[in-house]
Amino acid sequence: MKNIVNEKMKIDSMKHVTKKMNLAIMEDPEYFYVPLSQHIGQISSEIVKKGDYVKQYQKIGEIQGNVSAAVHSPISGVVEEIIENPVVNGNKVKTVKIRNDFKYNSENMERRAMESLSEYTKREILDVIKESGIVGEGGAQFPTYVKYDIGDKVVDTFILNGSECEPYLTADYTIMNEWTEQFFDGIKIVEKLLNPKKTVIGIEEENRELVERFSEVSRKKNMTNIEICVLPTAYPQGSELQLIKTITGKEIKKGNLPVNYGVVVSNVGTVKSVYDAFIEGKPLIERVVTISGEKTEEKGNYLIKTGTPLGHIIEKINPEKDAKIIFGGPMMGEEVKDMNVPVIKGTSGILFLSGNIDNIERNNCISCGYCVDACPMGLMPMKFEEMYRKGKYKKLVKLNLDMCIECGACEYSCPSRVPLIKSIKEGKGMLREMRAEGGIK
Ligand code: SF4
Ligand code: SF4
Repeated sequence: MKNIVNEKMKIDSMKHVTKKMNLAIMEDPEYFYVPLSQHIGQISSEIVKKGDYVKQYQKIGEIQGNVSAAVHSPISGVVEEIIENPVVNGNKVKTVKIRNDFKYNSENMERRAMESLSEYTKREILDVIKESGIVGEGGAQFPTYVKYDIGDKVVDTFILNGSECEPYLTADYTIMNEWTEQFFDGIKIVEKLLNPKKTVIGIEEENRELVERFSEVSRKKNMTNIEICVLPTAYPQGSELQLIKTITGKEIKKGNLPVNYGVVVSNVGTVKSVYDAFIEGKPLIERVVTISGEKTEEKGNYLIKTGTPLGHIIEKINPEKDAKIIFGGPMMGEEVKDMNVPVIKGTSGILFLSGNIDNIERNNCISCGYCVDACPMGLMPMKFEEMYRKGKYKKLVKLNLDMCIECGACEYSCPSRVPLIKSIKEGKGMLREMRAEGGIK
């Protein structure tokens, strides 16, 4: 692997637009669309049926298999039906449609005091995380109880990823700024599970003002062992492997588990959700979502319940009709057109941007090499496009397509707007099919 983050890859961050805005609460819709798969791994199985009354926080999807996550009702109401409903990538997923009764009758949740943490075993804490349906909120959506169940592995460094490198997004900043104390308590709970030799919070240079706040809270909580690492504002600094390389110097190849190298990385929102689960007794049913982009006036960081459909959000914030809607950031996010696509546990932002991707003028590669310079993984993106276009799929393996983290830095820096990401994604799909058929290893 080549390097960490290419210093040249600076993108106009646009974060100033929403960074200092107070957290807003998105009004709840009448109908929620709660997918039973909001995580990597096996879809959870529905444990409610049409016509059932469900309470807020009630479990409605049960874990199946070793890697899966529980799903809970974000409100109280009646299960309208179980349907196949679209999610961000356009696939349809089994979804519980719930009619909100706006009464918020909730399950009796078990609350705990921070002072009682020492009374709980690791297994008991892991069970709370497991039962609360917590997954990685930075986009990966990996079930958190699986990540933290490290057995006898030794963790040298526990990294809190506060480096939200995608432009526009300030959801993680909002969590660190609004709930600093809860965030630190969440760290303390996870430290009990991982017993790391060192804990490091990585934040971007443009959020440097958090250092003072963190120092104050860490002194108050007697957590002065925590290091704060101010990282250059560059893309894709927040990608897990780049962050590990920057903070620890360790180079880990894509596909390898960081814990096998003594490192565990968690998104800051995930750790705040651990606090909510252990202390407040609340499962993961809502998250902070940045709404931004030049096509909406109602920019800000909103607390939105999972299962809230895009159509409801549009009704509330009334963006311009011709907006291109992106779930996630502009670099790695996906364009969404279906109004029934809901916010899920990994939705960090919804952007309303100008420009239609279908109308971009694309030209041939001029062999300038900018994409190679921009690639944080030391790959040759223009070769991916060429080999995919020519149908030479086996060459994609030799070119290490599997190492690509789909960060989009190559296409962003390409003067000819060569469709690199489309070739990369479709090329990976082709390799998956060929592997399934035993055509390649
Ligand atoms: S999308 Fe893949 S090939 Fe392009 S810069 Fe990112 S890692 Fe490199
Ligand atoms: S940046 Fe674009 S034009 Fe330049 S080598 Fe890469 S694909 Fe070709």
